[in-house]
Amino acid sequence: MIRIAFIGLGNMGAGMCANLAKAGHQVRAFDLNTHAIAKAEASGAKGAASVAEAVSDAEVVVSMLPAGKHVLSVYFGPDGVAAHAPKGTLFLDCSTIAVEDAREAARQADAAGFSMVDAPVSGGTAGAEAGTLTFMCGGPDEGFARARQLLEKMGKNIFHAGGSGNGQAAKIANNMLLGISMIGTAEAFNLAEKLGLDAQTFFDISSTASGQCWSMTSYCPAPGPVPTSPANRDYQPGFAVAMMLKDLHLAAEAAKASGADIRLGEMAEAIYAKLDAKGFGSMDFSGVFKDLTGELGRGAN
Ligand code: NAD
Repeated sequence: MIRIAFIGLGNMGAGMCANLAKAGHQVRAFDLNTHAIAKAEASGAKGAASVAEAVSDAEVVVSMLPAGKHVLSVYFGPDGVAAHAPKGTLFLDCSTIAVEDAREAARQADAAGFSMVDAPVSGGTAGAEAGTLTFMCGGPDEGFARARQLLEKMGKNIFHAGGSGNGQAAKIANNMLLGISMIGTAEAFNLAEKLGLDAQTFFDISSTASGQCWSMTSYCPAPGPVPTSPANRDYQPGFAVAMMLKDLHLAAEAAKASGADIRLGEMAEAIYAKLDAKGFGSMDFSGVFKDLTGELGRGAN
């Protein structure tokens, strides 16, 4: 049994926190939203009234927060985690944040006598609930080794990608590829249909030919071929346009800082930014297909 403080009990954190409690760990849960704390209590955690109370005897702090500024302030702000956790506590941040923010957090943790691992996830809310997330971790070997047994209760595939920030780097590079491949797949289905092929016929051919990719075979943006894809439930997310846009912004920021050429990544960012600005931020990101077919009004480009 490990004493865990869990901070950030939203769409993702709720399921992850429940899985840690279910595994028999002692979990103290905190969120700014008291309804989220009540939900965590119903799933086996013990609520805390503040960050200080949640972390006061924690061996590991797990966080699942919206963005880098929340992570830095929750851990290192006044009355934050670092001010109240016992020295040596492991900090495990599972939020998706900028690579530089993750590296800054790790530096501050190290200077204050803590070990910190960035462990962003892929797998969405369904994966968080089912305990089947993929974790991409960055940080010291010793921290990753301590994190592993907890990550195994929340996820199925666990990778150590190297030093601090490398988990975030893997996550944003992967999601940039996903954003690009989804637009490409949607364009291919739209073109094929315009040229007289129905979606199923094109799917049957391309899914066994060189155009095959996850966006096609697991998450097909055209209605029909993949029954579980959001295209068959009017593009209810799934993974929303606004979330994809957040990750593409992070990729663009990291590319600028590192000098990487991501010309298609930038185009994907612009296409999703336009969809978001048109009011489709909460549509599933595969709904870019509907923009191409003209069902959302004028095309994204
Ligand atoms: P969410 O907005 O549902 O949850 C965030 C929670 O953090 C909220 O409950 C909020 O009240 C809480 N919070 C914010 N500031 C806080 C503070 N100072 N102290 C305590 N609690 C605070 O977001 P989410 O969908 O759970 O996403 C969390 C992270 O996971 C994000 O970084 C996101 O990019 C990433 N992510 C999300 C998904 C997904 O499908 N939702 C998938 C992969 C990664």
